Parts: sequence; structure tokens; C-alpha cells
Amino acid sequence: MDFTRKKYAELLVQLKRAGYGFITYSEYCSCPPQGRFVVVRHDVDLRPGYSLATAKIEHELGVRAVYYFRAVPESWDERIIKAISSLGHEIGYHYESLTTCNGDMKAAYSDFCKNLEQLRTLAEVKTICMHGSPRSPYDSKDLWKQYDFKDLGIIGEPYLTTDFSEMFYLTDTGRRWDGYKVSVRDKIEKWQEKWTDRGWTFHSTDDIIRALKENRLPTQLMITTHPQRWTDSYFAWTKELLAQKTKNIVKRVIAKR
Ligand SMILES: [Zn+2]
Repeated sequence: MDFTRKKYAELLVQLKRAGYGFITYSEYCSCPPQGRFVVVRHDVDLRPGYSLATAKIEHELGVRAVYYFRAVPESWDERIIKAISSLGHEIGYHYESLTTCNGDMKAAYSDFCKNLEQLRTLAEVKTICMHGSPRSPYDSKDLWKQYDFKDLGIIGEPYLTTDFSEMFYLTDTGRRWDGYKVSVRDKIEKWQEKWTDRGWTFHSTDDIIRALKENRLPTQLMITTHPQRWTDSYFAWTKELLAQKTKNIVKRVIAKR
């Protein structure tokens, strides 16, 4: 079975074996290291308990990652945010202010500032990351066409401050590793075609593991997961599989518009 916590742990072990170091996103932004490294990013869209379970597995393996939390009750759990931070992981803000404020720039910026300040009472926050909101007409990254997150002491936003000419991006969006085909916003359009040309497309986690063993992956990686999709309970696993199948159909239609 794919998309289980066991399979995730296996992926981490194989990355370590292949010689990849693990750094947080803020570390990447302040000073990217030489050699092989991976930034493991988690978007906590919902079910924060699943993220805590993932954070513990990583901690056991000596891996540090970044967890982006949304300012909505289904993601924002203060006990869990503090617990994940205390395991040595980075905490960031998974913002969607332009969507929740219906495209009103001024209102969205003040909503963003308020939530950021609140999150900073729980953990240090140096980086932020857009929540894709596939059904919304607004792209929350557009906030930065008018405002500058650096004014707020933010040093990075994965979609805006990553050098994708050097770093290969993998995301489990759509509960598969080649979900860029169905994703509305979680994709790096400028580089995807070049990556595909190089044969860097993977469907299952085992496909990635195979590529690691065969030394077919580039030096710098960013791997994004949504921990709520990764479960070891068979019931929850089946439910998530069916829900994602339906969502992918809807997203494919929206992405084609
Ligand atoms: Zn998200």
C-alpha cells in the first residue's frame, strides 16, 4: 500500500541512504548548503494530529522538516503547533488570505498580518507558503504583487523564493507524485516540462525510491506532503483514496479552464 506512514518512513530512510541531508526551508533561504539536500515540506491543510504523527517519525529518524499551518480551526491546533516546533521542526504560515477576503488586497494583508502575529506567539515563523484553494478564483500569492513579506521579517515563500532551476519539486497533490497534471496551483509550471523531458516523473512512492536507489535524482529536492493523506489505518486509507479520486476529477476540469 502507498501513502501510508510506513511508506513515508521508507522514503526518508532511502533519502538518507542516498546521501541527502535534510534542511528546513528557512535554512535553505538563509544559506543553502553544498551537495545533496532535501527540503521536506508539509502543508497542514487539515487533521493536524496526522502531522504530529509524521513529525514524530521524522524526529526518530533525525529528520527536520517544515510544517505550514492554516489559520482555520481544522488546521490550527496550538498544542500540536508547539509540539511539532519542540521536536526541532520549522513552523510556517500556510496563508489563504486573498481567498478568505474575496480578493480584497487591503483586508487580505491585514488578515495575513494578524494571523502571522498570532502564529508567532506559538513558534518562530520565518517562512510562509500559499494554500492553493483550487476552487477559489483568487491566488493568495498575488498579495505580494502589492506588499512585501520581507517587511514582516519573512525570508521565504517556496513558490517565490526557490531556485527551481537547481531544485526539483515533488508534491503528493492529488495523492500521487505526478499530480501536477491535475493541480490548479501546486505546480511549478515554468520547469515542469523540462523535468518531464529529463524523465523525472513519478507516480508512486516506490517509483521515487527506485530512482533514489538508481541514483537518478538531482542534487537538490523539495518534497511536499499533506500528512492527512498518509495513514496506516485501512479504513481512513480507503476513505482518503475515494475522496481524492473525486477531487482529482473536479480539479482536472478546473485546471483545463
Ligand atoms: Zn494547502
